[in-house]
Amino acid sequence: MNKKLVCLCSFLFFLLSTCCFFHLRPFRTFAEAEKSIYLTFDDGPSDRITPKILDVLREEGVRATFFVVGRNVETRKQLTRRILDEGNSVGIHSYSHRYGQIYASPETLLQDIEKCGALLNRLGIYTRLYRFPGGSSMVGENFKTAVRKKGYAYVDWNALCGDSEIKNPKPSELYERAIRTAGEKSTIIMLFHDTTDKDATLKSLPFIIEHYKTLGYRFCTFDMA
Ligand SMILES: [Zn+2]
Repeated sequence: MNKKLVCLCSFLFFLLSTCCFFHLRPFRTFAEAEKSIYLTFDDGPSDRITPKILDVLREEGVRATFFVVGRNVETRKQLTRRILDEGNSVGIHSYSHRYGQIYASPETLLQDIEKCGALLNRLGIYTRLYRFPGGSSMVGENFKTAVRKKGYAYVDWNALCGDSEIKNPKPSELYERAIRTAGEKSTIIMLFHDTTDKDATLKSLPFIIEHYKTLGYRFCTFDMA
């Protein structure tokens, strides 16, 4: 009897120590294991900021999705290629990014999207990924239907660092806003902007990445097909 008890205790001790040794957290749930974050950058590329964002992503070993503006791509073709060549995804944001023009009708919106798409195609970049300027919540269902019918998949965001709302932000403010708006979400789509004055965005980026690495999030990009 005693022998059996000793055996059972030894077995339980072995089981527990094995769990602790190999996993540290033996009761990690499936949901925790599947936490993922998508870093997304709108409005670029830009001469000053995009190369530095790409450097940070490379140093951190993570990838992101860039929703580019065609008229910015025109004079930054090599830089746009670099985004893709370093393993990031490229999506269409707009050609002109002029709301009055693009949102005049579903037809004018599609013309704008296709103009940006054709430019990217000439660089060997093929993407069906799209983000509405201002987000899909600001357009009617007819715009969304038109975009979907043309074979584009549009993506919004569910967290943001506030780099287009806060005037002259400190990197710490953007970091805090990013963490706060993401909350406890298991899938985070974080909105950043990639224009020439976004130094604070750039400075906050490594801290935001480190934060989600520590929490065990997987860094993902959107499929361009
Ligand atoms: Zn935009």
